[in-house]
Amino acid sequence: MTSKENILISLAEKISNEDIRIIDLTNTLSSEFPVIVLPPEFGQCDHFSMETISKYDDNGPAWYWNKISMNEHTGTHFDAPAHWVTGKDLPNNSVDSIPLKNFMAPAVVIDISKECAKNSDFLITKKFLIGWEEQYGQIPKNHWIALRTDWHKFVGSPKYLNMQNDGAHSPGPDKSAVEYLVHEKNCIGLAVETVGTDAGQAFDFDPPLPAHSILHGNGKYGLQCLRNLDKLPTFGSIIVANPLKIENGSGSPLRVFALVDGQNDEL
Ligand code: MN
Repeated sequence: MTSKENILISLAEKISNEDIRIIDLTNTLSSEFPVIVLPPEFGQCDHFSMETISKYDDNGPAWYWNKISMNEHTGTHFDAPAHWVTGKDLPNNSVDSIPLKNFMAPAVVIDISKECAKNSDFLITKKFLIGWEEQYGQIPKNHWIALRTDWHKFVGSPKYLNMQNDGAHSPGPDKSAVEYLVHEKNCIGLAVETVGTDAGQAFDFDPPLPAHSILHGNGKYGLQCLRNLDKLPTFGSIIVANPLKIENGSGSPLRVFALVDGQNDEL
């Protein structure tokens, strides 16, 4: 067999010569990166922190290393089904037991950036998704559903969390949209630029936090705090998202990226 006939060698060549491009969907972990803020009666998410152990000094003359600390849900991160009470008894529900094949899956990108620019509380509904499909084509099965909101542009600004007196204001899906994506599209999960898969006001929805409740109750995943979804085509990219193998972990920060066709006219 020649290298041209070997699909994996062909893939490696295409990555090497940028016929297939790699798009970084990850925000840099730093102490400044915002974390979700829950109502005050609940435990909170920690910011990333880093302490130098040595940096070519008396504590380690030839080496540099740091001690790091964070929540499983700090920064760009993956949500496993065990994160939510609805997924607590499912098999393979923690980051160390999820089947590896699910860490590499195609994505469909739904652009709601214009709607979100007009309305920070924009909710994507089943009706919206069906209208979207009439315009762009069917949402394929077994895909990540990536919601392009352009919210990553607010990282570093109070607008990212958009906390008001009545809590956070950021876009997300309603119950009908999540049920449609889970039950009729068998999605891998929901991938978003905001700090959570749910809208900022979703504590008051019925059920509360429908994305977390329905996705994780059905063995689906979440990806949050992504960036560069505006650099992906509507169809045909592959998201590579492999969380740390934390024993019984509910989620994990990760380096997540997408493979895209370098020849795609849409880009
Ligand atoms: Mn999370």
